[in-house]
Amino acid sequence: MQDEGQVTEKLRASVLHAAHGRCEMCGRSIAEHAVVLQVDHKLPRDWGGTNSRENLWALCEQCNRGKKSYFSSINAGDDEAGYGVQERSCSDW
Ligand SMILES: [Zn+2]
Repeated sequence: MQDEGQVTEKLRASVLHAAHGRCEMCGRSIAEHAVVLQVDHKLPRDWGGTNSRENLWALCEQCNRGKKSYFSSINAGDDEAGYGVQERSCSDW
């Protein structure tokens, strides 16, 4: 994966626009539930995920947190993970 750098503002806008102000995991919305949406990598960067549009979605803070800890837990010595995990660091979400 040679796509160094950040998710651009344009890409973020595209993701958030496509989500219509709703979390793409739980469906809660900014308007109705006062959630804060964050652009997240579906497949974490540490797992080989890219900054491409297809790998990005809008999650509320709560889902994003939950997803992180979920990935962390299955990342811990689970052979079935199978994503070519290298080193785990939680820095680049
Ligand atoms: Zn959510």
